[in-house]
Amino acid sequence: MIVHPYFDIMKARTKRQKMVEELSALIKPLTEKQKSWAKNKLFPHFARNTMCNGVLTCFDCGHTWNGEATKKTVCPCCGQKLEVLKSNRQRTVKEREYFTVITTCKEYQVIRTFFVIFNAHIGQPATYEFYEVIQKWIDVEGNKTIRAMTTPFNTYYYDAWSLTSELSIKLIDNYRVSASEVYPAKKVIPILKRNGFKNSLHGIDPDKLFISILKESMAETLFKAAQYNLLKFYIDRQGLVSRNWASIKICIRNNYIVKDASLWLDYLSDLHYLKKDVRNAHYICSNNIIEDHNRTVQARKKKTEKEKSKAEAIQAELEEEGFKTTHSKFFNLEFKHNKTKITVLSSVEAYRQEAEAMHNCLFDRGYYKNKNSLVLSAKKNNKRIATIEVNLKSLEIVQCRGNCNTIPKGYDKILSIVNKNMNKIREISLLQSR
Ligand SMILES: [Zn+2]
Repeated sequence: MIVHPYFDIMKARTKRQKMVEELSALIKPLTEKQKSWAKNKLFPHFARNTMCNGVLTCFDCGHTWNGEATKKTVCPCCGQKLEVLKSNRQRTVKEREYFTVITTCKEYQVIRTFFVIFNAHIGQPATYEFYEVIQKWIDVEGNKTIRAMTTPFNTYYYDAWSLTSELSIKLIDNYRVSASEVYPAKKVIPILKRNGFKNSLHGIDPDKLFISILKESMAETLFKAAQYNLLKFYIDRQGLVSRNWASIKICIRNNYIVKDASLWLDYLSDLHYLKKDVRNAHYICSNNIIEDHNRTVQARKKKTEKEKSKAEAIQAELEEEGFKTTHSKFFNLEFKHNKTKITVLSSVEAYRQEAEAMHNCLFDRGYYKNKNSLVLSAKKNNKRIATIEVNLKSLEIVQCRGNCNTIPKGYDKILSIVNKNMNKIREISLLQSR
């Protein structure tokens, strides 16, 4: 994708820009060798087969010959290996691609991006148009200067280059061109060679790679130590890598290469959580990171659960304590009439048991947390028959419910027992809480 560069300055302004503009005259056009590499590497090569008479046509050079309808063939004229198209009606092939050439110009590292338009029409030689669309100039300190073709203002379309425009200095690098291929022969400035650059980019964007190792000491260290995956990760998420720098240094010292940085850093965060020594090579230089990581994930999960249930226990204890503070003065209350006995629920656990036996939401709703609510349980012959709630402010019965919130047997009787004792409740409620 190409995102529009907000600032398109045609004339070089700073010393560096002027220098780049001047040196750019030295940049040579693509060689025939580079072009033929790109033609081969970037585009598919097809032959069309006219099935009824077995006539094959090369989309590359336009040559026609008699041949068999196999999947692959070789053009007897241009020698190109060809893929035989399924359709015998296709008349044109059109493709657009990018590729990058990594080279130098004086003391600058230059990354050149080319845009290629491939056009093939049956019976004619295919055409390739090459356009240089971006040049990134990087000096020894990692400063970047961009020259690029112009893109129409406010255009976010892919490949929207003004193909007749000249390369000119651009202020912001907003070109998100992903060049699928890099020309294999690369030239780099001496400092990059000294930093350990051989030929491979290790799957990292060339300009990001070069700038980071020229500008940042951590990136340089990672590159020299062949920690390419960590470096790639570092370029995107510097913070996470630098936070674990002490551990990384130990890996480097032990010649341990981190192959999957994201997994390894995740593993490290587990080790932190599990209070393992992340400066101990025994832990961090894992020989089987997948297995070790799985293990720490499990251990972390267990620990989290343990901490959660611990927290829950602490919470329950606090609730019990709070409940006692507000309600303990009522605990000895007991009203009896014949075989009916009404007592105060005297612990959070008693609320839980009552709720479970009577199938109500007494416990779930946390009635015990309400200091103005007094809950009593009525039993007949030791069997629970009703749960009664009294509002300690208004001294009224708020509810009296049987099993599953039904109207209990002896409802009126229970109400009258409680109401008769309401004065006792009032007296106690006026007492200072403990
Ligand atoms: Zn051919």
